[in-house]
This record gives sequence, structure tokens and C-alpha cells, in this order.
Amino acid sequence: MMEITRLGEDLYSFPIPLPRNPLKWLNCYVLKGQGSQRNLLVDTGFFLPECTAALDEGMARLGLKPEDTDVFLTHLHSDHAGNARYLQDKGCRILMGAADYAIISRPSQVRWTRSGQHAIDEGMPWDHMDRMRRTNSEVSVTSGDFDAVQFTDGDRFSCAGRGLECVLTPGHTPGHMCLYDPESKTMLLGDHVLFDISPNITFWIDVADPLGDYLNSLRALGRFDIQRALPGHRRQPEISVNERVEQLLEHHARRLQNTMEVLAEEPGLTAYDLAGKMRWRIHARSWEDFPPGQQYFALGETLSHLDHLILQGHVRRDDSGEHPRYYLI
Ligand SMILES: [Zn+2]
Repeated sequence: MMEITRLGEDLYSFPIPLPRNPLKWLNCYVLKGQGSQRNLLVDTGFFLPECTAALDEGMARLGLKPEDTDVFLTHLHSDHAGNARYLQDKGCRILMGAADYAIISRPSQVRWTRSGQHAIDEGMPWDHMDRMRRTNSEVSVTSGDFDAVQFTDGDRFSCAGRGLECVLTPGHTPGHMCLYDPESKTMLLGDHVLFDISPNITFWIDVADPLGDYLNSLRALGRFDIQRALPGHRRQPEISVNERVEQLLEHHARRLQNTMEVLAEEPGLTAYDLAGKMRWRIHARSWEDFPPGQQYFALGETLSHLDHLILQGHVRRDDSGEHPRYYLI
């Protein structure tokens, strides 16, 4: 039977398994209202039978009636927003940051065609991209449109007897939002800060510097007094958010350094070939053996670092050939 963890007086979490995904599971959080107060459920899993079953079981065991429950989506990724339509159809109200809602409301076909084309332009072989599109649940599972009450940075709303503050933290997605409860000094982090993996930072069509945004959003957490940090995936933290923020800032500084070292050794690489020469924490014999989904994420991560280095004046991009090529300045 699924384990439900009681984290505080009226605060619970339960895992939603993410089949065939390296993130392994999503932490779904629940603030349970008393009496006539509404409940809050944060993040929902993929729209896959395994996820939906876990969501149903968790809600039933915590006694959450859909009509009394608000569902907050920290960001647009399908492991978080995948069951928004499913829950809305059951009677839940959906809440979400306005910037990510604007993106998720576009037809996913259009979104993936543009992002996929960008990856191909940057050197990813077409057949890898095609395999990724067919096998990755982030892309292949669509869950339908939904309506949402939309928030912007600093907005407050009450749920389960608490006043919660929306904290816009762009980077992992352009409109990622954390939720802060000043009374219990609790921060629901979504995928902004994870503790045993580093959140993927990738390119976004129409966003100039996602990594720069992310680094700023990490630093912005410093203004909050956070006693309890609740990450969207994996285990509960054993160190403070501030310590983890420092580690993540260092991680990206090292990766920026690593990007420049590779370019110093081999000037003129495409982003795809460069990604294959970076250090990744994945068990594969070679770059060619990376599962296509992981190749795509590695390429995206590399591109976000290249964009940042270009804006900082360390790297230049040569667009004259079939694929852009990158050089140190
Ligand atoms: Zn996630």
C-alpha cells in the first residue's frame, strides 16, 4: 500500500510513481482544510494509469473530495500538470502561474514542433529526436486543456486556513512558481530546488537566458525564512535550502567552466557534439548510447549554458553553416 507521510499538523505527502522516468517519483503535497476550509493539493503526476491510480488512492485515503480541493501546479511539465484536466473533470479547481499557463495552453503539437526543430537545428540527429518524441511521456502523453485560476509573482491566496504567497521562480520553466507559507515558514519548491538531483535547465523558444533566470531565482530564495523545504521529487532534504542553493550555484559554475574547457580544446563544435563531451551523471557507455530523451535533456542543458556564456561575452556562435558552431571569444 502507498505510504502517506504526515509532515506537519495538516500537511501530508504521498509519492506518485513516474514509470520509465529517471525522476522515479513525484512528491504530491496536501494541505488538508478543517471544517469548511478548502484543501490544497500540489502537483499531480503524468496522465498515465499508474499516476492517476496513485493520485486517486492518495486523495481517497486523505479524505479529499474533489469539489472541496484546489490543485496548485508549480509548473507546466507533465509530471506536475499531467492530471490537471483529469482532476478538473472530477470537480477540482486548478491554480497555476500565469506565465506557464500561457505556454501550456498552446497546442502541445506546436510547442514540440518548435522545440524539436530547434534541437535538430543544433545538431541532434532527426531519428533520435523522433524516437524521443515517441517514447518520452513528457511529450507523448497529452492530457487535454484545462482552465486555471492564474497567479503572478507575490499574489496571495488562502487555502486550508493559511495565507500562501506565490513566488515566481523562472528557470526550470519560464513561469515556475513556488508557494510560501509565512506562518509555518514552509516553501513548496516544485522543481526549482531538488536535493539529490539538479533540476534540468534547458532552452525555451522566446526566452533569452533561462540559466541566468534560474541562477537569479535561486538567489531570490535568500529573502525567505525557510524552515521546511518541500521538493517536487525524491527524498526530503537533509540540508537547508540555503546550503542546497549554494551547491546548485556551484554546480552551474562548474558546468559553465566545463563548457568553456571543451570549447577551448575543440573550437567550432555544434551544441549536440559539445553535449556529448560534457560530464553527465548517467550510466551509458557512450554519448550514442544515451536514451534519446536523456540526449535531448543534455542538449537542452548544454544550450542553456551556451546561451548564458554568449550573453556574458565568453562564447560566440557562428551561424554560417548547416548547424550553429560555438567558439570561445
Ligand atoms: Zn518534475
